[in-house]
Amino acid sequence: MTLTDPKPSETVSADVMALAGELGAERAKPGWSTFSLALNDEQREIRDWAHTFAADVMRPAASEWDERETTPWPVIQEAAKIGLYGLEANVNLFIDPSGLLMPLVHEELFWGDAGIGMSLTGTGLASSAIFSNGTPEQWSQWLPRCYGTPDDVKVAAFCSSEPGAGSDVSAIRTRATYDEKTGEWVINGQKAWATNGGIADIHVVVATVDPSLGTKGQAAFVVPKSEVRGLEQGTKLKKHGLRASHTADVFFDNVRIPAENVLGGKEKLDARLAKAREPRDGQRARNASMATFEMTRHIVGAQAIGIARAAYEFALEYAKGREQFGRPIIDNQGIAFKLADMAMEIDAARLLVWRAANMSSALMRGESPNYRHGEGSMAKLKAGEVAVKVTEEAIQILGGNGYTREYPVERMHRDAKIYTIFEGTSEIQRLVISRAISGMRIR
Ligand SMILES: Cc1cc2nc3c(=O)[nH]c(=O)nc-3n(C[C@H](O)[C@H](O)[C@H](O)COP(=O)(O)OP(=O)(O)OC[C@H]3O[C@@H](n4cnc5c(N)ncnc54)[C@H](O)[C@@H]3O)c2cc1C
Repeated sequence: MTLTDPKPSETVSADVMALAGELGAERAKPGWSTFSLALNDEQREIRDWAHTFAADVMRPAASEWDERETTPWPVIQEAAKIGLYGLEANVNLFIDPSGLLMPLVHEELFWGDAGIGMSLTGTGLASSAIFSNGTPEQWSQWLPRCYGTPDDVKVAAFCSSEPGAGSDVSAIRTRATYDEKTGEWVINGQKAWATNGGIADIHVVVATVDPSLGTKGQAAFVVPKSEVRGLEQGTKLKKHGLRASHTADVFFDNVRIPAENVLGGKEKLDARLAKAREPRDGQRARNASMATFEMTRHIVGAQAIGIARAAYEFALEYAKGREQFGRPIIDNQGIAFKLADMAMEIDAARLLVWRAANMSSALMRGESPNYRHGEGSMAKLKAGEVAVKVTEEAIQILGGNGYTREYPVERMHRDAKIYTIFEGTSEIQRLVISRAISGMRIR
């Protein structure tokens, strides 16, 4: 049949029916997967459970802990009592084969409050490092100690950044030297901006063992504060946002830890260092390290989306209720279009986060995630920038009220800004993406 030779409509519909039947049979064949963004019952239930805690416990406490600028231990304990804080909670979120549970719950917690949210989730930086670099024996030795118990909750700290090594992790100067006589590692150096630094028992510390090898000469060590001498908290930082989360410098002065506290074990480290000293395939090494970082970036993105969504929802309700010139301000396109853009940007960012979450979940299926264009970085970058923009627009919509601490959107804006800075700045994310799409060493 051609376009100039139409068939009678009954013949066309018979053809269409036959084609539809063939397509139906084809789709039913194993191997085709359906595309769906619908959450299953379990995902919805756990998300709603986290939302209830965020709404009932975190929201009402948000302003108080922001002003106190200190770790909200009672809230952490309450979360631990209901099973929302702790090792088991994290394992349960992590094992979801779709990869979505972790970002779903993080979005809800940070919708509740970002400062308290960071106090509830900051331990995850250290526990993830133990999980991804440690042996199964190290998991069982250290992971429960990161979180403590509901009656005696603990937090953990991941110490990588230093005053001279933020974006450039190859500049890390903290040194781990092996003392052959005692069979101990000796750690010396200064760490900067560590979430939970000094108030944690378990500190996971990135140090250089062989400075000539750059990042390949580094390793991660578990330093339990209660069992060592020479670990001191430095200045506790007064911050712009996330003020309910503790951030501090940490000093290591001849801190001695047993040989087995290096994550992955000393034998594996020695073998890795020996391999790094050989000429090797640089591209493969770069790809492997990109995959490691990409794995968790979307979770940080989900936190940023939680903040953005909270500010958007508040601004939407405010715009419906606030009247100027005899009508609600949302009646003006100037306000309504802002809200339309805010809603759209949040959804766009969430789709990137869910895509990256799904890619990271390949690991759960025993496959290696096939990141091609820095998809984890795309998710974190977009979500962080959306959070800053949306919270700023929320202040604009609230006018003078938005600028005061009587309303929550100024706190949300202060909290959002960190998402273009930590866990890889926006510029570093663009570097990762541009290198991935071009295959070139963009600087
Ligand atoms: C609240 C908070 C919590 C934190 N928690 C932790 C933690 O728990 N553990 C931890 O180890 N660290 C933590 N950090 C540190 C954080 O990861 C670093 O601040 C971040 O990596 C940026 O490093 P920097 O501050 O040294 O900035 P710099 O690296 O000095 O960057 C300054 C500016 O230069 C830009 N820039 C740098 N290099 C390039 C480049 N090649 N191309 C283009 N632009 C570039 C950056 O994007 C940025 O805009 C935390 C920081 C804060 C503020």
